[in-house]
Amino acid sequence: MALALQGRHKMRNWKDRSASPARRSESRKTRWIMTYIVNDKCIMCKYTDCVEVCPVDCFYEGENMLVIHPDECIDCGVCEPECPVDAIKPDTEPGLEKWLELNRKFAETWPNITQKKAAMDDADARKDESGKFEKYFSSEPGSGD
Ligand code: SF4
Ligand code: SF4
Repeated sequence: MALALQGRHKMRNWKDRSASPARRSESRKTRWIMTYIVNDKCIMCKYTDCVEVCPVDCFYEGENMLVIHPDECIDCGVCEPECPVDAIKPDTEPGLEKWLELNRKFAETWPNITQKKAAMDDADARKDESGKFEKYFSSEPGSGD
């Protein structure tokens, strides 16, 4: 645990949060970097286990799902096994372009979330439901931290 916290502290120092999103985006274009994304399994669940482990605080909260900012994610993969509904995937998996663009778009406007909060009502009942994007997706922001 102590090691994990030490590592987390180092990673926070690594992050240059003073850089503008445009500059970070430009920097990303000049090097090969993968990212992780959140898909529609998160919708209406929002368990938020993931946000506590992210060393660079790159999760953003919508009304009923979270997204990852692709330009801020350092591809550590720590969050992926934390998600109880398997909603977090590396963008190297095929067919995830739609989710990458959705994560990018809404991470620019939704508020940052770094601390776990209560899951949504009925999260357990809805966690295995299909077609959640078409049925429930909201572009409205969440409340963040
Ligand atoms: S742990 Fe999974 S379901 Fe929960 S907020 Fe993160 S991505 Fe969404
Ligand atoms: S892989 Fe997950 S924990 Fe790691 S930086 Fe990206 S969003 Fe954060």
